[in-house]
Amino acid sequence: MEDNKDKDELEKYCYLCRRPESLVGKLIQLPQQIYVCPDCMQKTFDTFQNGGMAGFDLNHFDMEQMTNYAKKRDIPETQKVKKKKEKKEEEPFDIKKIPAPHKLKEMLDQYVIGQDYAKKVISVAVYNHYKRVATNTMDEIEIDKSNMLMIGPTGSGKTYLVKTLAKLLDLPLAIADATSLTEAGYIGDDVESVLSKLLAAAGNDVEKAERGIVFIDEIDKISKKKETHSRDVSGESVQQGLLKLLEGANVEVPVGASSKNAMVPLTTINTRNILFICGGAFPDLEDIIKQRLNKKSSMGFQADLKDKYDKEENLVSKVTLEDLREFGMIPEFIGRLPVIFTLEKLSQDMLVKILKEPKNAILKQYQKLLELDEVQLVFDDSALEAIAKKAVEKKTGARALRAIIEEFMLDIMYQIPKDDNIGRVTITGDYINNNKAPIIELRGQF
Ligand code: ADP
Repeated sequence: MEDNKDKDELEKYCYLCRRPESLVGKLIQLPQQIYVCPDCMQKTFDTFQNGGMAGFDLNHFDMEQMTNYAKKRDIPETQKVKKKKEKKEEEPFDIKKIPAPHKLKEMLDQYVIGQDYAKKVISVAVYNHYKRVATNTMDEIEIDKSNMLMIGPTGSGKTYLVKTLAKLLDLPLAIADATSLTEAGYIGDDVESVLSKLLAAAGNDVEKAERGIVFIDEIDKISKKKETHSRDVSGESVQQGLLKLLEGANVEVPVGASSKNAMVPLTTINTRNILFICGGAFPDLEDIIKQRLNKKSSMGFQADLKDKYDKEENLVSKVTLEDLREFGMIPEFIGRLPVIFTLEKLSQDMLVKILKEPKNAILKQYQKLLELDEVQLVFDDSALEAIAKKAVEKKTGARALRAIIEEFMLDIMYQIPKDDNIGRVTITGDYINNNKAPIIELRGQF
């Protein structure tokens, strides 16, 4: 019964041109659940009449053979699109579902440590974006899209921030890697593939996808190549290709696949209300900023020391559009990302907090695992510091934490279940740094 209901919600599409019924008008039904649009039907008749289809004898038209052929090419259910609802009954997007910026930030605080400025900016931008979606005032006072550019070192929480946001707001999210994108027609995914991902994340529901979030990571890798004599198909061209998506356009998207080919149905997605967030580490950006600042401050009477900015922490937060252009982002592209903000490099203290404070902190996860064996797991402060210190050395931000802990926990997870008498295990700095044994206490000893 459920199944049938689902099927009713799926839209029929033309077997030949793959366009859905809502686009091409009423379809003509042939045997074996095959539908053809009036256009394609007419074209087929024309071909027959003009003597095309050489060798095809209309007098011996074998219906069975044709339908068997069609059956073999049947398209799986997952590639079918959900019907768009009739315009009238379209339920308006309820702004009340989106929490006010301060509430949104409070919710993010439970998961993302530090990065206060980024959390604030993103909360306001998301709130404004969905206000714009809800009011739909495109024709009167046009509220600009709040697409974002997030700059921050690896492992500082860029992806995590967006993921958490999408989860909290229950919006479909597609995460794409800019390095895998190329200009249409070249090896790699073309830019529109990000919309196919979004459609899949929305369960093939076009309306839901049209209000979703697309996160494009490693955006710095598609900067304009400085000295190139060949066509820059994965750099500047990708930026060019993304322009119309960022701005808002109707894009034909393959359903259930990342590329358009004869086997997949197409649907149209309007990107006007999709929130695009781009993120990247922009590794050489600091040098560009430093150069600009040094040049400015070494001129005139109040000239500063030439290396004044060399040791400054968090220089990236001083980024300007001019710096990004210098880095190789084309002006039209940055122009379509009006909200630009930076994330800080995570300090050792922040890493300690990340270990224990978030709602789903790594330590809490391990504690829960051992709790199932009725064993208490304790990390003393020196252990947390030692782990955080090791993570800082790896220079991959919070990403290193899990790998480090996993390495140390392996032995413990292996040994503990062996002995039923163990009641508590305490991990110390000595255990992490010097391979000393952890403190093990038996049940009833504490
Ligand atoms: P990137 O900035 O490279 O996109 P990620 O968001 O992928 O980094 O971070 C990797 C992992 O590190 C996340 O899955 C998350 O568990 C953890 N993490 C990173 N930054 C934070 C943070 N500020 N607060 C809590 N966890 C974080």
